[in-house]
Amino acid sequence: MSLLLGAVADDFTGATDLCNTLVRRGMRTVQLIDVPPPGTPVPQADAVVIALKSRTVPAPDAIRMSLKALAWLREAAARQFLFKYCSTFDSTPEGNIGPVAEAMLDTLDGDFTIFCPAFPENARTIFKGYLFVGDVLLSESGMRDHPLTPMRDPSLVRVLQAQSKGKVGLVQHAAVGRGPAAIREAFAILRRDGCRHAIVDAVADDDLAAIGEACADLPLITGGSGIALGLPENFRRAGLLGAGGGADTLPPVAGPAAVLSGSCSVATRAQVAHMSERAPVFTIDPLGHDVAAAALAWAADRLGPAPILISATAPPEQVAAIQEKLGRDEAGARVEHIMADVARGLAERGVRRLVVAGGETAGAVVQALGVTGLRIGRQIDPGVPWTTSLDEKPIALALKSGNFGAPDFFMRAFTVLDEVTR
Ligand code: ADP
Repeated sequence: MSLLLGAVADDFTGATDLCNTLVRRGMRTVQLIDVPPPGTPVPQADAVVIALKSRTVPAPDAIRMSLKALAWLREAAARQFLFKYCSTFDSTPEGNIGPVAEAMLDTLDGDFTIFCPAFPENARTIFKGYLFVGDVLLSESGMRDHPLTPMRDPSLVRVLQAQSKGKVGLVQHAAVGRGPAAIREAFAILRRDGCRHAIVDAVADDDLAAIGEACADLPLITGGSGIALGLPENFRRAGLLGAGGGADTLPPVAGPAAVLSGSCSVATRAQVAHMSERAPVFTIDPLGHDVAAAALAWAADRLGPAPILISATAPPEQVAAIQEKLGRDEAGARVEHIMADVARGLAERGVRRLVVAGGETAGAVVQALGVTGLRIGRQIDPGVPWTTSLDEKPIALALKSGNFGAPDFFMRAFTVLDEVTR
């Protein structure tokens, strides 16, 4: 069956989050890392999400990158398009959410789209156009002081209007709560009023399901990963998507297993402590010489079906001491470099099942392994699915943001993998 949904995501972990939501709702989903070169075959999937790094680049660059991704997805014959951004609407008065959405809408000859970053499961809700993070307004949340995209106005209508040419309207919860027909009616009224964009209220998953249904015929939808909750059902209703069993199945991957941890977040520290009592561990010294080579020599006669752990994870005072010596950026870059070399070396030595902890670390590892795309499988813990690379001989990867996962995550991940690839 052909591609149903083509999505453009403005960052890597956000893309994975979206993929995870789609898979859980029964769509076979592939995440592509950047736009593939022309002629690359379209992966067998119901949804393809192209992960860009366009959230905080200048707006003209974000538009160019996003339109290139959109062109690839159109060429791949996707039936509907989605622009995914952060559930806290991370942007500045210059963009990039408004300008990118408008450029995509122009390209698709669309006259109207919605903006709905709500994700109630993660405590992002929208009421009367105001975005809440947990129990407080966006402007009172930690996003107020974000280094790149400080969000100081909680009104999404105002925030979006400041960065858009088209007129922005609002679909209030009073309409959303009455279901898809009432939402479509609200869209029609806004269109008659000359609105090109609609912020849509949503405070619960049921709202997102109703909004999704109301958007079945829009060429472009924009939102956070929550907006994907309601979309698979549209394709199912149209007879284009099966019941959804097995969307998280991955090809079998056999080979030695390893965990690479470059995150110093609290959850990761607990996971490293847990695994250290149950498996061989090599600790990376960021100040050492030929550290990657030493780690690989240590790993050589320990590689097998049971995972080993190679970790740079350290408590805050140790990280502070290293940063004092090297500077924060240099310390981070050095550890990422070591992890990239270790990942490449492990792959050369046959490792095919890999858990990586740390967002930046995961980015470095994926790049080092030359991975261009990931098929998304079952989640191990909320927000962290197993994936397999799109290579002919796939490698299984679980890429974990620092603060995700229970303490037994590392060891349990491999049990989950055995179940899904059996
Ligand atoms: P998280 O998802 O927890 O934020 P990241 O991988 O994104 O993890 O970021 C962690 C950063 O800390 C990376 O740049 C990594 O290289 C760096 N780092 C890891 N271990 C150490 C250490 N022992 N000393 C200094 N920096 C470290």
